[in-house]
Amino acid sequence: MSYDPDNIFAKILSGDFPAHKVYEDDVAIAILDIMPQAAGHTLVIPKAASRNLLDADANDLAQMMPTVQKIAHAVKTAFAADGVHLQQFNEAAAGQTVFHLHFHVIPRHDGVAVKPHSGDMEDQDVLVAHAEKIKAALAKT
Ligand code: 5GP
Repeated sequence: MSYDPDNIFAKILSGDFPAHKVYEDDVAIAILDIMPQAAGHTLVIPKAASRNLLDADANDLAQMMPTVQKIAHAVKTAFAADGVHLQQFNEAAAGQTVFHLHFHVIPRHDGVAVKPHSGDMEDQDVLVAHAEKIKAALAKT
């Protein structure tokens, strides 16, 4: 399977499709998932093109993990979470639905289950408010 440059995250990276972006650096962007499994569910998307972990360049992976960590701290603070759950799917058989590498960063609270993966679309105004909370947490780091 080869990388398809028309995937939705490539279009978000190029600015051709909108997203609630909470962070950007040289190697990655972080956006809110439009079908969050919990409030604050954020996707860290590397700028380097690969379908997933399996075909990613090892150096690109090493460069983006500090961004995943930064976003994990920010969502934990922003949502006063008890923990943070990472998810990353590789190929359709494993549940992947968008074929540009990304890490799901999901704030978790004790005893609260997550909603299904790719479930209900969240209201835009809720996503706007959640993005502001994460940006505010990032601004303090
Ligand atoms: P995957 O199944 O590939 O690991 O996850 C793709 C994620 O992207 C899903 O959680 C889904 O809700 C989310 N998603 C799908 N389309 C869009 C979109 O257009 N914008 C954003 N922000 N998230 C999307």
